[in-house]
Parts: sequence; C-alpha cells; structure tokens
Amino acid sequence: MADLPEEVPGLDSEEYPEEKEPFQESNEETTDSAFSDGGHAWGFVIGLGALLLVVIWALMLIPRRTEVKPVPVPAPILFHPPAPAVLVDQLVKEIQDGELPSLQEEGVIGLAGEYKMHDQLVNFKHEPTDKYLEKIVDFLHLKSNASRSFFSIKIKLHNDHNINGAKTGILPNGAIFYAASSILRAQNEAEVAGILAHEIGHLVSRHYAKERRAWQNVTRLENKFIKEANLKGMIAIRMAKDRLWGTMLLPGSMDTNQQLEADKKGQEILRDAGYESDAFLNLLHAYTVGISDITPRILMNQRTREAEKNQFQGKSFIVATPEEFRAIQKNLKNFLDKQK
Ligand SMILES: [Zn+2]
Repeated sequence: MADLPEEVPGLDSEEYPEEKEPFQESNEETTDSAFSDGGHAWGFVIGLGALLLVVIWALMLIPRRTEVKPVPVPAPILFHPPAPAVLVDQLVKEIQDGELPSLQEEGVIGLAGEYKMHDQLVNFKHEPTDKYLEKIVDFLHLKSNASRSFFSIKIKLHNDHNINGAKTGILPNGAIFYAASSILRAQNEAEVAGILAHEIGHLVSRHYAKERRAWQNVTRLENKFIKEANLKGMIAIRMAKDRLWGTMLLPGSMDTNQQLEADKKGQEILRDAGYESDAFLNLLHAYTVGISDITPRILMNQRTREAEKNQFQGKSFIVATPEEFRAIQKNLKNFLDKQK
C-alpha cells in the first residue's frame, strides 16, 4: 500500500500532479485506521458476504426469469384419457330419451322413402306372388298379439333375382320392399312369413321413430358440447355413438340391437300365428353367412331355439300347401326370367 503513491505519478504524472499529495495522505490514514480497527474489518467482510449472497441469489433468479415456458399443446384426441364411463352411460340413456315423433309424421317420412326406394330398386308387380304375400300378412295380423296394428302394410316386390341382394326392408308407413330372391330361395312358407314377421317387428317396435329421435338427440348434444368447448363431452358423445351404432353405421340405419329386437318380435308373431318359429333362424343361416353383424343375431336366435325346444312345434305351411308354394315359386321365377 505504501508503494502505490510513488508508482502512480510515474504512470500518470501529467494528469494528476496536484492531486498526488492529498490523495496519498488521506489514503494512508484510512488504510492505517482500517487495519487497526477490528469492527470495521468485520463489517467489510459481512458486507462483502451479503453482497456475494445477493449476487448468487440474483444469478439463481436469472435462469428462472428467462426460462421459456413451453406452450401447452393439446394432445391428439386419441391419446386423451377416455371420458368417464359414467358420462358415456348417461349420454347413451339421454340419446334414447324423449318423446317419439308422431305416427302421422312417420307416415309422411315413409311415403318419401318409398319414392327413394323406387329409384334404387327394380320394383315390379306380380299378382300371384303379391296376393300370396298379402294373404300371409293378413293371417299373421289375425293371429298376432303385436301391440301396434299393422293393417297398413303394403307389399312391394323388387327384382334382385340376378344379384341375390336379398334386401328386404320396411318403411315407417308399413311399405315392405320384399326381395324376390328371398321367395325363390325359401324352403317353405314359414320362411317367407318369417321375413314378413321380422319387418313387422321393426314396425311395431317403432324403430324408425326411435332412430330419428336418437339422431336428433345426438345432434343437439354435439352442438351443446361444442358450444361449451367441453372436450370430455365431445369424446363421451362419440363413445356413446360407437356403443349404440358401432363405427360404420350412418344415421337412419338400424343397429344390431334393433335387428335382434325385430327378430324376437318376429318370432313371437310367427309363433302366435302357428308357424314354426325357427324359420327365421334357418333363413339367416342360409342367406347371411359372412355378414359380420349377423353373428350375434344367429347366436341369440339359437339361444331362443334352445329355450323353445320341444315346447312349440309349428307348421311350415299354413296359407298354401307345399305344392301350391312350389307353384308360386316356379311362376315367379318364370316371370323374372322374362324380365330384362
Ligand atoms: Zn331388420
């Protein structure tokens, strides 16, 4: 310390010539007194320590402040945790809830559907076959305990003879589009009646009305969840839809549960009329092997058959004799073979 003032003027003598002396004196005094007084020295050390701590603390803070927080990216929907099962259960119920559309409304919709079916199918009239099917319907109606009257049923034959489409269906106004191939391939009258009974099963169970109500509810709930930006709700409604219809079905198509219900109802109608109630099961086996959604139906029908074994022995022919039945089939085939 004592050497410092002598070196300073050598380095910077022109700039600080006058300040040399007072600076040296005062500096000597402070340094001397600082070393002689112990309290001042400790104060300096503590101050330095505190300063050091503040610097360390500040250094620790810096990375925290400048740390870039990751922007939350929503995970793809597939990887979200599944919506609570309780919510899905509740939505499944809610989708199927509410008032059914009126019968008049169904009549109007059925009529509109008829025009569409006429565009898609090759419809034809064949009096002997039409009359035969109408007689079977009258007979089923006469003997049936089905809750809803089905007197309004009208038969519309369509020619799927060469494509074996076997598309028979019913519209909510009672129009049955009956596939001719189903008549040609039937082993007996009970099978033909079985198809009619199954379609009537859809009608008396009001499946169309239930489907329309369900899809209206789905649209309403989806709108609600989107408006609320409720992701859980959106996932849950999708799962509820999958549970009700599977992933492939579109609005308006009947789900497997409804087919099962129509099978069950159809079997009841067949049995009430005195036909062998296995007829529809035989038909399913004959026509629909390989169609995936048929499997549970076959299993269900087999269970029913097991349960009914030896309890009910129905008839295979009631309205027509076996001979008359073969004649009707032959007549129809000749008619269709002449068609272009
Ligand atoms: Zn069906």
